[in-house]
Parts: sequence; structure tokens; C-alpha cells
Amino acid sequence: MVVKKTQNNILIVGGGIGGLTLALALHEKGIKCNIFEASPEFKPLGVGINMLPHAIKVLSSLNLESELSRFGVEAQEFAYFNRHGQPIITEHCGRFAGYDYPHFSIHRGDLHKVLYDAVIDRFGPNFINFNHSCSGFEQNEKTVKVLFNQQEPHTGSIIIAADGFHSNIRKNLYPNEGEPRYGGINMWRGVTIRKPFLTGASVTRIGTVDTGKMTIYPIREFNNGSQMINWVTEQPRSDFKRNDWATKGHIEDFIEPFKEWHFDWLDIPDLINNSEFVLEYPMVDRDPINQWTFGRVTLMGDAAHPMYPRGGNGGAQAILDADSLAKNLEKHEDQISAINAYEGERRVIANQIVLTNRKQPPDHIIEKVESLTKGLPFNRIEDVINPEELLAISERYKNIAQYSIEKVSN
Ligand SMILES: Cc1cc2nc3c(=O)[nH]c(=O)nc-3n(C[C@H](O)[C@H](O)[C@H](O)COP(=O)(O)OP(=O)(O)OC[C@H]3O[C@@H](n4cnc5c(N)ncnc54)[C@H](O)[C@@H]3O)c2cc1C
Repeated sequence: MVVKKTQNNILIVGGGIGGLTLALALHEKGIKCNIFEASPEFKPLGVGINMLPHAIKVLSSLNLESELSRFGVEAQEFAYFNRHGQPIITEHCGRFAGYDYPHFSIHRGDLHKVLYDAVIDRFGPNFINFNHSCSGFEQNEKTVKVLFNQQEPHTGSIIIAADGFHSNIRKNLYPNEGEPRYGGINMWRGVTIRKPFLTGASVTRIGTVDTGKMTIYPIREFNNGSQMINWVTEQPRSDFKRNDWATKGHIEDFIEPFKEWHFDWLDIPDLINNSEFVLEYPMVDRDPINQWTFGRVTLMGDAAHPMYPRGGNGGAQAILDADSLAKNLEKHEDQISAINAYEGERRVIANQIVLTNRKQPPDHIIEKVESLTKGLPFNRIEDVINPEELLAISERYKNIAQYSIEKVSN
């Protein structure tokens, strides 16, 4: 059956990063949609997130680049260090590496707000249906109905589930999937206001999970020259607690490996001890699934491919999904064909990133050097390994995650 574009009634469930980007991308193409969001109001939540050039390319096409640059920090380089604070390799990123688009390190709340403000500006103040917590759906040959816990159902032509990691629509489609998969790593994260370190725009990765790993980058700049520095550590832990981005953490639970990390370029204990707050979150994902689209319903973002938040791709891949969905919904008269074409473009790629983030994220570079040096300091990295071999690890990840210069330029 062909659903005419003029009769479109696309139902987006979830007004997070993916859902809002999709609404904006559809608006750009003159395609109507509705958004249903569980939370009672807009709240800018979370901590730091990296938006690499592949995601910024999409957001630029929605005229959001200058807004993002007002909030985020344009990153210049990825810098990798061993646990002794010695530089292993540094590679430029974003425009500094020759991309046409910047790499922004940004507070997730700021990113969400830029998207939210654009949605309100372009659709009007009451466009998002807050307080609509989806419980499931029903579909027949002609229509689909989204069901809510406390609100009346809403009928449309297709449902796009952008309801995040704990997606209820995914639960309806995969009722036996069970708990998220916990890989035995817990994360603690926080933000510290301080003066800039290194270039003032460096995304740094230090050490390894087994002996203490840190990822540190600035996400906001203040008029007095100070910055908000986002930091996150990953450490092995056997106990799994349900993943919730708001769970409070405690410094004494994770600071041990970092007690002596007083590097001349950054004092890590000082950074941790001066944090505004500490949150914890388990490293969880789900095994890739081999079907996202079921009739008039499809999954996107974390609902489709929940992944370890490594390598700056959780948010970015949701944004790429939105781009693909909007393009296919413009191209195909039949919306069911459109969502199947979207899945055809995106599922295999996203699933491969899920698996790569488990075993070979970009910081595999540091693991490699740690194992070659047996954790000891080195004199020259060239005596340990050819730096080209390390850069090849990074290039491999960029190719898999779709942000090599060639892929972003196409
Ligand atoms: C509160 C929060 C904080 C986060 N903080 C960080 C962070 O600091 N760093 C980072 O890298 N990533 C963070 N993430 C994850 C990151 O935003 C996602 O991995 C990424 O943006 C994928 O986008 P998404 O749209 O699929 O999911 P999300 O951006 O998570 O959006 C999902 C949306 O669906 C809504 N929703 C959930 N269930 C229902 C339901 N039943 N009915 C209707 N709506 C529903 C949620 O309220 C949310 O708005 C956070 C996510 C959340 C929800």
C-alpha cells in the first residue's frame, strides 16, 4: 500500500538526541511528524559527549553548527598517554585534521538544548508531547497505534522508536531479551571547572582499564578563561547495577589507581577531588539484533544499537540514523519501504560499531603500548612501536564508525 506524503503521520517515540534530530531532519524536507516524550518537561541532562565530524555534518545541514559552537569546545586533537603520563601519539581531529566539519566536545545537556530550541523555534512551543510514556504499540495493514501508560493512544502511519537504551518498543519486539549485557567495567564521571590544559581543546585518553583509565576533555568555556573539564574513568568491577545516567558515585570507590598521577601537564587527583559532582554508570550494551523494522515500526539510536559510550559514537550514530531515515522517507513514497531501506543502510554498520566498541575502541592504542612495554615508562615511542601502526588502529575505528575523512567528504 502506498501512503501519500500528504497523509503522513509519523510518530516518533522519544525526544532525546536521536528523536529531536529526526524531527528537525524531517522538517527540513517538509515531512510532518509528532514526538512523544516520557519526561514531564525538557531537562538538559548528562555530562560530556563528543560530536565528531560525521555527526556535525548532519547537524550543520540542519543549520545548527553555529549554535553548537556557542556551547561546545571545538576539539583540536586526540592525545593518547600511558599511565605514567607520557605522550604516545597525538592526532589532529575535526577541522584541524582537514575535515570540512568541526569536532565539538560538548555537554550532552547543551547539545540536547540546541536541538530542543531548534524544534521549538521551527515547530512551535507545544510540538513535543511531554508526559507520554510509551508502553507499546498495535498495528494493522493500514495504521499503527502507539500506546501510553497514562495517555490516550495515538494513531499514525509509522512509529520510529527513539526511546533510548531502555526502549519499551524494543521490549515489545524482543520480549525475551532480558537485562543489558554488562562487560565487567564500571565508569565514574564528573566535571571540574579549572584552567585549560594542553591545547585547551585536547581530547585525552590515558592508561588502560586494568590499571586505571581516564578520558578527559573540555566541554564548556567561560568568559574568565576557565573551562568545564569532563572526565571519565573506566575500571573493572564484577557487580552490575542497573544503568541510569543519574546514579551518584563516590571518589573513594575509584581514585586508588590515580593517587600518583601528578603529571606535569595535568594533576589527575586534583582534577578528581575538585569535581562538581561524581556520577557512575556501568559499561553496558546489548547484543546486536538482526531486525529493526517490523511492519510499520522501526528502531533507531540506542533503542536499535545500544553501545558502550566509547569513541564518541552513541549520540553520533543516533544522528546518522535520523539522517538516513529522513532521506529515505523523502525518497520513498511508501513509508514502509523507506524504513526498510533505512535499516538496510544502517543496521550492519551500527552493529559492527557495537562489537568494535567492546574490544577495539580507539584507546586500544594505549592497551597495545601497555602490553609492549609491560606497563613501564619508555624513552621514545619509536623504540616501542612504529607510530604509524598505532595511527592505523585509529583509522580502522574511523572507517568502521563512518568518520574517516573520505566517508565524511562523500
Ligand atoms: C538522562 C541521560 C543522560 C545521558 N548522558 C550522557 C552523557 O553524559 N554522555 C553520553 O555520551 N551519553 C549520554 N546519554 C546517552 C546518549 O544521549 C545516547 O546514547 C545517545 O544520544 C543516543 O540517542 P537516543 O536518542 O537514541 O537516546 P537518548 O538521547 O537517550 O533519548 C531517548 C529519549 O527517549 C525518552 N524515553 C525513554 N523511554 C520512553 C518511553 N517509554 N516513552 C517515551 N519516551 C521515552 C527518554 O526520556 C529520552 O528523552 C544520556 C542519555 C540520557 C537519557
